[in-house]
Amino acid sequence: MANLVTEIADTVSAHPDTTALHYDGQDISYEEFWGQVGQFAAGLQEVGIEPGDRVGIYLPNLPQFVVAFHGTLRAGGIVVPINPQYKTREISHLLGDSGAKVVVTIGDLVPFVDGVKDDTDVEEVVAIGGHDDATAFRDFLAAGAPDIVDRDDDDVAVQPYTSGTTGQPKGVLLTHENLRSNAAMAASLVPDGVRTDDKALGVLPLFHIYGMTVVMNATLFSGGAYYPLPSWDAQQAMELLAAEDLTIMHGVPAMYNDVINQPNAEEFDFSSVRLCGVGGSGIPAEVLRRFEELYPAKIYEGYGLTETSPVTHFNSPEKGRRVGSIGKTLPGVDCRVVDEEFAEVAPVDEGPVDEDEVDLDEITGELVISGPNVMQGYYGLPDANEEVFTEADGKRWFHTGDIGYHDADGFYYVVDREKHMIVTGGYNVYPREVEELLFEHPDIAEAAVVGIPDERRGETVKAFVVKTPDSDLTEQEVREYCLERLAEYKHPREVAFVDELPRTTTGKVQKFELREADE
Ligand code: AMP
Repeated sequence: MANLVTEIADTVSAHPDTTALHYDGQDISYEEFWGQVGQFAAGLQEVGIEPGDRVGIYLPNLPQFVVAFHGTLRAGGIVVPINPQYKTREISHLLGDSGAKVVVTIGDLVPFVDGVKDDTDVEEVVAIGGHDDATAFRDFLAAGAPDIVDRDDDDVAVQPYTSGTTGQPKGVLLTHENLRSNAAMAASLVPDGVRTDDKALGVLPLFHIYGMTVVMNATLFSGGAYYPLPSWDAQQAMELLAAEDLTIMHGVPAMYNDVINQPNAEEFDFSSVRLCGVGGSGIPAEVLRRFEELYPAKIYEGYGLTETSPVTHFNSPEKGRRVGSIGKTLPGVDCRVVDEEFAEVAPVDEGPVDEDEVDLDEITGELVISGPNVMQGYYGLPDANEEVFTEADGKRWFHTGDIGYHDADGFYYVVDREKHMIVTGGYNVYPREVEELLFEHPDIAEAAVVGIPDERRGETVKAFVVKTPDSDLTEQEVREYCLERLAEYKHPREVAFVDELPRTTTGKVQKFELREADE
């Protein structure tokens, strides 16, 4: 039986002295790391955490995130990762829904947790850097080894939140086997697999499944070193890459775009890098071309979702690459392109197709996925589960909501999202959430939020707002109202006042019309 705990324990016994984590100039060996993981697990057990209990990790990328993550699993708990940009309004749903009993955070974020404590099951707040209302991280670590807890492959390990097609974020139940299998697949994308002398740039956020599985776990399961960086700063990341001879970098397209647009872009040194991965949204071919003109490294695009732990497709140095494609399915993962009746749509001869020359409706369908990395389901939401799974040919298929096609060589291409999620600078924004907030404003009668193309971020958030009669609300006021209540990346950078919203006969706002009106 291999769960996430035994997987790391095996790495620790095989390489106790190699570096597991490197932060702020300090190396932490696998043995030291495992010691802290044990102390954190023992701390959780001291405050009464039992197998299956939830622990919220509300932190930027810091070594303590990794310790708390693996410590929670070692105590048999379930990690609920929370975006550190979230404020009270956003964490209240996550903490309330998950029933997390412990929250690990930094001192500055403790007031946001205080704001929801009375309405949730949170009993213990642990803060790095300390805070009057929290236990200091250092003091929470308990001496001695934790009690050993057995976990099965199909026990839930992590419960990240994602919105999918409907409004409120849903808890995604990912098991030990989901995450273990996907980390192993992700490690195999690097030529000859991740090695003990590999060093991975940890700038993709750990609260998101891409950074968690593909960067952190794929590295740690293989005995490589993980270099967390709390936030994205192109200069800082490039300095670290060159100074430490990092060998693996994963990023969202906006990061690579940022790198090539730095005034000193020509000076960056990618000679030590063995693999540059990209995902989260499609990378523009122009960004890829300019990057590869500047550096000896190549960028390999992949695709996945929170619900699939995440990677399902990847281009790779060994299995091939086609620019504009999300790559081939990973070993063990099945993907079909299906129409509305679940019939398979035939592949084209060779992609990518010229979208002006073919009728996309004829060659595209929804991507559905089956494999060991597909989630158990959404937490406590039987109706949502009913909607996203289809049983066929002895397999359980997950509906991604993404529309694409495939070619005869096994490469897949994503052309659109069925759902209206906006991906801005690598972050997902679910329009409904912003719309609901806008609807709460006394001067706003109606609102619809869409993603519009943005050179730097891929997409940016735009709000179409119908004001109440006689209101003198300004665009600036709408932006500020959202900025005060939501993570910065979610606020509408553009606001347009309109007399009415275009609607279908059944009353649904026609978002494509809004997007088109904007072109
Ligand atoms: P998340 O659950 O946050 O990982 O978001 C998953 C969604 O990101 C997918 O359903 C896609 O819409 C989008 N996505 C991820 N990778 C790509 C890619 N390479 N190209 C286009 N869209 C992508």
